[in-house]
Formats: sequence, C-alpha cells, structure tokens
Amino acid sequence: MTAAALKPQPPRKTEPAAPAEEVLYAARRAIYPQSVHGRLRTTKWVLLAITLGIYYFLPFVRWDRGPDAPNQAVLIDFPTRRFYFFFIEIWPQEFYYLAGLLILAALILFLMNAVAGRVWCGYLCPQTVWTDLFLAVERLIEGDRREHMLADAGPWTLEKVAHKTLKHSVWLLLAWWTGGAWVLYFADAPSLVWDLATFQAPTVAYASIAVLTFTTYTLAGHMREQVCTYMCPWPRIQAALTDEYALNVTYLYDRGEPRGSVKKAAVARAAGEKAGDCIDCNQCVNVCPTGVDIRHGMQLECIQCGLCIDACNNVMDKISRPRGLIAYESEKNLEARAAGLPPVRRIVRPRTVLYTALIALVGGIMIYSLADRSTEGLAAIHDRNPVFVRLSDGALRNAYTVRLINKKLEPRRFVLTLDGLPDARIAVVGTESGPEGDVLTVGPDQTLEARVLVTHAGKLDAGASIPVFFRIRDLTSGETAIAKDHFIGP
Ligand code: SF4
Ligand code: SF4
Repeated sequence: MTAAALKPQPPRKTEPAAPAEEVLYAARRAIYPQSVHGRLRTTKWVLLAITLGIYYFLPFVRWDRGPDAPNQAVLIDFPTRRFYFFFIEIWPQEFYYLAGLLILAALILFLMNAVAGRVWCGYLCPQTVWTDLFLAVERLIEGDRREHMLADAGPWTLEKVAHKTLKHSVWLLLAWWTGGAWVLYFADAPSLVWDLATFQAPTVAYASIAVLTFTTYTLAGHMREQVCTYMCPWPRIQAALTDEYALNVTYLYDRGEPRGSVKKAAVARAAGEKAGDCIDCNQCVNVCPTGVDIRHGMQLECIQCGLCIDACNNVMDKISRPRGLIAYESEKNLEARAAGLPPVRRIVRPRTVLYTALIALVGGIMIYSLADRSTEGLAAIHDRNPVFVRLSDGALRNAYTVRLINKKLEPRRFVLTLDGLPDARIAVVGTESGPEGDVLTVGPDQTLEARVLVTHAGKLDAGASIPVFFRIRDLTSGETAIAKDHFIGP
C-alpha cells in the first residue's frame, strides 16, 4: 500500500463524522463474515483444497529410493540428518539449498506483490486458508451471518450449547489433524500414525501435536483477522515494496458516488443528475473476513481476498448495473480514469523484470548445482599436536583425520592418494595397501573417518608448509573428490 493509496477519500455526504479523538487500540468487535458466491470465492475454494490437500496428504506419498533408504517422498530425517524431497536428498553440509529456497520464496512474494498487491495474503497465506476452513465449519454449524448473529445475541439455549460444542469439537479435530500432519513430515508417516494410535510414539511427537493443535485452534478459530492486523509483519513490509502499478482491491469512488438507493438513483438519473452505482447495501462489508469497508479506501486490515468484489458484482447483476464497482485496480488506473484517459496496464516494468530475473538466476543456480552436485565428499584435518614427528630414520611424518562421504545408496570403494609432495608415502591406519593405493570402503549413504599418516624422507626448508591434496577415486565409476591441507616441517 503506497502513501498515495492511503490518502483519505473525498468526503461523502452520507459518511459519519470522523471521531475527534484517535483511538490507538480498539477493543475487538466480533466479525460475522457472510458467505458469498462468485469467481474469486471459487478460486479461493480451489486453492484451499489444493494447499490443504498437499499439506495433509503429502507425507503419505511414497518414493522408491532403493532398499536402504526411506521411501517417503518428503521427509526431514533428524536421526540421519537428511532432508528428502522426491528425487532430491539434502545432506547437512548442503543446507545452503535451504537458504536458496528461502531467497526464492521471498523473491516470488515480492513479484506477486508487485503484480497484484497482497494476493498472497488473500489467497495463499496459511492463516487465511485455515481461517477460511474454520469459518466454513462455523457457518455450516451455526448458520450464516444473520442466523449466527441472532443466536449469539440471544439467550443460551440447549440448541446454542449443542452448536457451540459441536463447532469447537470440529475445530479442535481440524487443529489436531493439522498438528498431526506436521509431525508426519519427520518420520515414516504410516508407521508413525500406527505408533501414535497405539501410544508408542515418542513423547516429542505428542508434545508437538499438542502445541500445534493449540496454535491452530487459537489462530484460525479465535484470533482470525487479529493475526493479520496486529501480528503479521508482511502488511508493513509490503507497503514499502509496492508501487502505483500494482493491482489492489479498490472501490471506484467516481463510479459509486453519490451512493443511494436504487429508487433514489433512478429519480436522480431521470432528472439528469449524477447518481452513483453504490446502493449502500453493505454487502461488501458483510462478506469481508476482516470487517473492512473498502469504500473508505485501502486499509492495512484489507487482506485483498477479493470477496467484496464478488459480493458487489452480485449486487450489480441484481440491479442491472455493470460489474466492477469494486475491482482489482492500480493507482495509475484510478488517475487515468479521473483524467478520462484509457486504462493503463503495465505488468512489465523495471521492478517486475528485476524480480523475475533474480528468480530465474537463483532458481537457475540451484538447479545447476543440484544437477552438478557430487555424490562423494572428502575433508582432511591436520593433527594439531604434534604437528609433525621425526622418525628414527630421519623422515618426517604428519598425521591427518580424513573424512569420506558417500551420498549414494550403495556401498562404494575409494582409493586414497596424495598429490603435491612427490616423495611422500601415504598410509591409512588399519587398512592394507593394494596395487592402486589404500582402498577404503564406505557404506551406503554414510561417512567414514580414517586416520592417515604421510611420511616424507626428503629435505624440507625450515618452517616449510607445503600444500598437499588428498584425492579419492571411486574404483567403479571413477568419480573423484579432493581435499587440501598442508605438510608441515620443523
Ligand atoms: S456491495 Fe457494492 S453496492 Fe453494496 S455497498 Fe458495497 S460497493 Fe455499494
Ligand atoms: S475489503 Fe474486500 S478484499 Fe479487503 S479483506 Fe475485505 S473482502 Fe477482502
């Protein structure tokens, strides 16, 4: 939301006078959003079904990785410190991929914002999606806005108690299922479901489900729009990232005002006077999940869900006026309308091009590095004390701890060699040297630590520190990995 968008709308004749005193915190008033039908509402239902479907059922999707690996498509495996995502397997030392993913997500969010304002908030944010689901349950049990308001204002009856009990029970069930689905991403889902049901699951699983049940029930059931208004930082950040070309849900003031009843408007038009299309039916306010009256201009509380557009379009259809009194519009377009100029649509502009280029760059780097990543790794650490040992024959010996990583799901045999010190002899403690050198076998998806002694009989300058390169080569595939260290003399 830009500063211009927050400019107060021109005063309306029917608008009540602004309160003299500015209230910094207003006590919460209950919001009873009315159900609405329309294109945007349907889009929201479809997105809700897709996102929740993915969240609840993805842990049960299987992915064959061979006999020694977990077969869950998406799994965060803490015991083996791996993250599995379909064909991708991330090791702890590759967690920069996670950083790349977060950067990518932020850039996509910036791009969405540059094109259509808070479209993320209105359609895809988990808070919006779960609140929508909880509201649907509420309407199903307690009725739509009017029925629900009347029941809440009335005395406690057996029916009201039954409705409230049923609603909170279903909410708790949904919240519990939400927490339960979350823990399934951290273990084999079917086995964990069985363990949970038979009370054999680890305590941490039950504790996590309890915490998530509580947070989902509270945030989606009780706090709802309060989360967006008071807790979420995105509306504040978003305001600094948007521009006058971004589409936002907007009431077309010039078309809607002066507002009045259908009858009054007909009389005014017949007399050749201007009459607005807004009939002041309040439908746009009644359907709003955050209780906003969009006719007052853009507000921080508006999550840009577009439900007021559907509501107003339905009203326009009924009174035979053109749709789009409330619509996705840009500030630039509003200026163009005011000046009687044709609408301006500019999706391609410097900031959208920049975000798209950055998304392509970061995504490209990640895809390339994933495709080009090695399935073996090598690290060497020089002994700190003693740094070198002088042997009885006068030769110098340095000792290292070498770590080999095998990221493949099958055992591999590597030969270890040393470059950079031509006369040096290399020996791995506890292994027999073959014709090709010292051979080390690393199990599937495992690491192996070996103690390596490097002996050099030649002369070295005083204080010498010669760079050396350990190299492993897979005896089957020929793939190699290198680690650099130093051979240190007296
Ligand atoms: S729904 Fe449309 S016609 Fe009704 S009050 Fe809102 S803007 Fe006016
Ligand atoms: S004003 Fe309209 S777009 Fe904004 S939150 Fe309310 S219904 Fe959604």
